Amino acid sequence: MKTFKQIYREAENKISGVAAAPGINIAPAYLFTKEKLDINDGGIANIDEALKNLDEAIDKSKKELNKIFSLAKETMESVRAAIFEAQMMILDDPILIGNIKKRIAQEKKLPEFIVNSEISRYQDIMRTSSVTYMKERAHDIDDIKNRIIRNLLKKRWQSKITESVIVIAESISPSDAILFSRRDVKGFITDHGGLTSHAAIVSRSLNIPAVVGTHNATNRIKDGEIIIVDGFHGYIIINPTDEQIKFFENKLKRLQELQRDLLELKNKPAVTIDKHEIHLSANVDVSGEIDVVVTNDAKGIGLYRTEQLIDEYNEIPTEEEQTRIYTNLAARIYPETLTVRAFDVGGDKVKVLDYIEPNPFLGMRGIRVLLDNVGLFKAQARAILKASENGNIQFMLPMITTISEIIEAKKIFESCKKELADNKIHYDKNIKLGIMIEVPSAAVMAFEFARLVDFVSIGTNDLIQYMFAVDRGNDLVADLYQEFNPALIRTMKHIISESKRAGKPVSLCGEMAADTLAIPLLVGIGLDQLSISPATIPYAKRIIRAMNYQSCCKLAEGCMQCDTQEEVINKIEKFFKDNLITRTRNII
Ligand code: PEP
Ligand code: MG
Repeated sequence: MKTFKQIYREAENKISGVAAAPGINIAPAYLFTKEKLDINDGGIANIDEALKNLDEAIDKSKKELNKIFSLAKETMESVRAAIFEAQMMILDDPILIGNIKKRIAQEKKLPEFIVNSEISRYQDIMRTSSVTYMKERAHDIDDIKNRIIRNLLKKRWQSKITESVIVIAESISPSDAILFSRRDVKGFITDHGGLTSHAAIVSRSLNIPAVVGTHNATNRIKDGEIIIVDGFHGYIIINPTDEQIKFFENKLKRLQELQRDLLELKNKPAVTIDKHEIHLSANVDVSGEIDVVVTNDAKGIGLYRTEQLIDEYNEIPTEEEQTRIYTNLAARIYPETLTVRAFDVGGDKVKVLDYIEPNPFLGMRGIRVLLDNVGLFKAQARAILKASENGNIQFMLPMITTISEIIEAKKIFESCKKELADNKIHYDKNIKLGIMIEVPSAAVMAFEFARLVDFVSIGTNDLIQYMFAVDRGNDLVADLYQEFNPALIRTMKHIISESKRAGKPVSLCGEMAADTLAIPLLVGIGLDQLSISPATIPYAKRIIRAMNYQSCCKLAEGCMQCDTQEEVINKIEKFFKDNLITRTRNII
């Protein structure tokens, strides 16, 4: 049987894009082109009548959005459905609507022309932003602009499609995605958009495979053509050959079988054949994922990436909002532990402050931003403390590079505790403070760093980036991003032994632990706590239950002696074969 790599390498009928929502489907294409709205810049004779038309169009748009919002609330978590609430708020924005009305009166032009020009002006500003999130929001605003214009032109609202198709479009607004999902849509493919575009977020929430940012899918795919969408790898196959259809049907079948098998693992521990237990917790990016965490019976949350809240809320949530969010999350997983990581902003992540820096990856990131903005850090620390009363929250600091950062952060944390105590506000007096080790200087000094804190978590995503001097998001140097390089394995082994020597628990929360190939190696070098994306927990558990701890230790010793990544991978693949363990990566 061929692998995905071979199938895609040989395929001439493929398009690639960003893998935005996992899953595979085979279905006919439905080319969704929105009717071009004819906007002319004609003049008006009656200003009052134009303003009345505008008010009516805005009212109608609000009603439509209200309907979509109710549908969204039925099918998605409330934080996702809030996209539509945000759109309704734009319709109520007094400055925007005020400007449009002022311009209609002054310029005496048709309202649709002014609406288009005024909202497009905002979009242009957003598009030139250096922040990816803002650029993608510019697309989302098209939806609201077109809705008002369509209602001004008294055109019908059209989001109807045939049942069970894969929708191909230049871009898909969140409201289209919601309406399509009611027609058993099998996938979304768009020319524009990235991982954080709303269409991508909505697809993930609705469990519909999606590939976005393909640039030219609408030109290459014709209506009715059979296509395969692969939201795991970010590929689309147009008019598949018999061999390709057979390959993907087989994958789909295996995927369904695997999902059934995985269900049976629920409530069973992640323990090796020789009874060595591994603590599997979850990495959570968005609060909505908590349901997946609970369903896949994770042992708590090993990494809650709070900077994602800034993305979700479009601003830094207030101390009260944060307290509410952390309290709810901790309650949902009680008695397991919630590890809240302080805002890891900067670098390739959310930017909240305008540092002008030539190289953001080596600049104001994580703890550096927090220590430079003590108010922001303190508000988050206080929120965490207030939510910690039940004793199941711990606090983790990202991007620690020096001892003095730990000392300074601890001082601030202590001052927050004192503030609360002075105000008679309860918190967990034994709350644990930990650090992430994701920078080489911290790895080398692991013993000294670990001594100062309660726990340590290895962040391989950044550790690889900084060890190998390779941008984690740059395709051109992806070959150098080597998860299995002996230099990394020896470094991890050093961090683990040194943290244990300091008497502190150590876990790993980088994506590496979600790669099923890495699991025996990680367990063999001494990790007994892994935090991975919630959906991959059953896959990891399945492998742990099929392997022997003593053999993993031997495997790890062998890998530590290797010279190259290839040798390490060969050794691990042989381990899987010798022990008759099948890996998920072979299946999906
Ligand atoms: C890491 O760097 O490994 C990590 C878990 O943090 P993030 O991916 O959020 O930078
Ligand atoms: Mg990191």
